[in-house]
Amino acid sequence: MENIIVAKFGGSSLADAHQFEKVKHIVESNPERKYIVPSAPGKRHGKDYKITDLLYLCHTHVQQGIPFDDVFKIIAERYTEIVEELSGRYNNMKDLDINHYLNVIKKDISEGASSDYTASRGEYLNGIILSTLLGYEFIDPADIILFDENGCLSSEGTQEAAHSRLIKINKAVIPGFYGSQCQGQCERHIKTFSRGGSDVTGAIVARAVNASLYENWTDVSGFLMADPRIVTSPHPIKTITYRELRELSYMGATVLHEDSVFPVREAGIPINIKNTNMPQEPGTLIVSDTKATNNIGTITGIAGKKDFTVITIEKNLMNTELGFCRKLLSILETHGVVFENMPAGIDSVSLVIADSQIKNKLENILHDIKRQCNPDSIEVLPNMALVATVGRGMSQSKGVAAKIFDALAKNTVNIRMINQGSSEINIIVGVENNDFEKAIRSIYETFM
Ligand code: ASP
Repeated sequence: MENIIVAKFGGSSLADAHQFEKVKHIVESNPERKYIVPSAPGKRHGKDYKITDLLYLCHTHVQQGIPFDDVFKIIAERYTEIVEELSGRYNNMKDLDINHYLNVIKKDISEGASSDYTASRGEYLNGIILSTLLGYEFIDPADIILFDENGCLSSEGTQEAAHSRLIKINKAVIPGFYGSQCQGQCERHIKTFSRGGSDVTGAIVARAVNASLYENWTDVSGFLMADPRIVTSPHPIKTITYRELRELSYMGATVLHEDSVFPVREAGIPINIKNTNMPQEPGTLIVSDTKATNNIGTITGIAGKKDFTVITIEKNLMNTELGFCRKLLSILETHGVVFENMPAGIDSVSLVIADSQIKNKLENILHDIKRQCNPDSIEVLPNMALVATVGRGMSQSKGVAAKIFDALAKNTVNIRMINQGSSEINIIVGVENNDFEKAIRSIYETFM
């Protein structure tokens, strides 16, 4: 069977004409790259604007009855600059009349087009430019990515529509970030995913064409083992499993759009995070749990979050009391509070809750716990941070936990809580907020 690669390029990879050229070289360097998903132009430098942000701004201006010409002019200039520069180098770009598209969009926005339609035009225009540059067919995702009346992605309908349409086309560009929604008498309207949603489009396309690989091209050479604002020059992660990724992103590591993992994970398609500016680097490969080699004794990454409150409840013979945890959790439910973690001992149980959840509710929750659960003691630890050390190599090796605790002790980090998830690929320690950065550095150094 032939290999098919779906390549999604993020906003920084398509921010100007020079970046478009890099993308062209990358696509053309491997004929397996048959389906290409572009984002809208991102920032060219720190103080630049993202086109999507400017489009949302145009919409807000119209809503408030303020002229949006100045904002639209910045958008139009960015696209005309890209097309003009590319036209100077590639003949097939000369026939592209980008002003025609820009005029239609400006008119639609001025006539009150929806926020989703307006925002989606960033990807739409980039799709038009990239398909012309590559000589690939342009496919409007409004025809193949379908949302239901409630605004949720209709997975089966999308898979069917995308598969039957794309499979007949050898090479196509499909703009990211949007599809269409059926409303009222089933008139279709443009509907976007949440921000960063081109990742999701790429994953949907990869599943629809049964790709052998989903490449996600960005401006970093894959995921790093730890936050570079905390650890100096952390190593990149070469291979990570979907489960590890879930654990790390849950604990705060910024990775892919959450919803982008599901379609490819389900279909067993690996994702390769690659750097458009350094295409020779291997990046990070995300694979299914069975395909990863074991890496015994090593860790994959460290992530964490600050600002939690830990409530520890002790009660003698708690383990024999029928329904104790149910009572405890129903108190949280009544107060509309979700918890992150629930490490338990024989006669004690702790609830780890984000401060943002428990704000203004703590007193009432404690009151209800005392009244309904009748505990021997309740201890409240505020200002806590959670640090998660994640690695598939942990489950079969001895001493990983000992190494973590030893590193923390040597660096005088006081561990206030320990939890090893039942998946055995994650050891979470609770430390004080003040020790958060030190804890991450200590664990990183001991393993690297
Ligand atoms: N352009 C959209 C955004 O800025 C979607 C994306 O880039 O993935 O959120």
